[in-house]
Amino acid sequence: MSVNSKTSDLLEVRDLTVHFSVPGRFGSMKKIVPVDHVSFRLGQKDTIALVGESGSGKTTTGRTVLRLIRPVYGEILYQGHDVVKWSARQLVRYHRSAQMIFQDPYGSLNPVHTVFQHLALPLRNAHKTRNASLTDLVDELLNTVGLTPAMDMREKYPHELSGGQRQRVAIARALAVHPQFLVADEPISMLDVSIRAGILHLLEDLQANFGLSMIYITHDLASARYIAGRIFVMYGGVIVESAYSGDLIKNPYHPYTRLLLAASPGSRFTGPLPETGSGAPNLEEHRAGCVFQERCPYVMPQCRIERPPVLEIDVSHNVACYLYSS
Ligand code: SF4
Repeated sequence: MSVNSKTSDLLEVRDLTVHFSVPGRFGSMKKIVPVDHVSFRLGQKDTIALVGESGSGKTTTGRTVLRLIRPVYGEILYQGHDVVKWSARQLVRYHRSAQMIFQDPYGSLNPVHTVFQHLALPLRNAHKTRNASLTDLVDELLNTVGLTPAMDMREKYPHELSGGQRQRVAIARALAVHPQFLVADEPISMLDVSIRAGILHLLEDLQANFGLSMIYITHDLASARYIAGRIFVMYGGVIVESAYSGDLIKNPYHPYTRLLLAASPGSRFTGPLPETGSGAPNLEEHRAGCVFQERCPYVMPQCRIERPPVLEIDVSHNVACYLYSS
């Protein structure tokens, strides 16, 4: 399922599918499918959001797009070239164009390295920068992400920084190699509420000032709506609904999207809601029917047999649910 980007595509993901082996019964191993035929496009200077709860497949999708995980099926077309087929050497170059910002800013930084060391390493590797100009470039990065005065920040260690400052260092490190797009995996979820807006504004400014594209991964529809032009709602490894952000928030169709929306603080959504239910989605390889069937109050016999087809509600709004089949 995809909602076309308005701009020319930087990245096109087609039918991306990932298998993991996990322990099963009696010491055996079984296969699960955390990402199941996921497709979307990312334009130039475009931000899309992958939204869903834990186990929805959003983070695995983001990591696979960066080829930190190898898919079993599907294509990741970056500027028209299939990254899945690239050699380790080609992937090194790809990783200069595509950077990840992790959820835990403390865990993603080396506790025994200063801010300067964190930023100098990628600058040296990517640009063969000489030591003499490194300090200027580090300062420039620190100013870009709002860590000022730069001369006071350079020699600090991660434990001397607040959560928001650490995330700014992680963002600066990603910018050091001049990427074309970022995969931001829940970049604000571990931060205090008071500093979340600052990081979102920073990401927004970076997109505007550097022409970056971004895949923003979150469980929170409100922040997705704020930062992304289009939202792809995932459940059980599958995109169940996608639309332009305003449209999705105003007119959610899939029962799971309605559930997510109702859980957003300040939501005005008053449409019919599914039961919240419980339990993780079934990710087994040979599962049948709709991925949301265990929690859906509208479940029908056919929902348990066959995967619902993707229906085009209008030209930019798609949903995978039998409720809307004619
Ligand atoms: Fe519910 Fe069936 Fe729609 Fe799935 S396809 S969300 S089970 S009504």
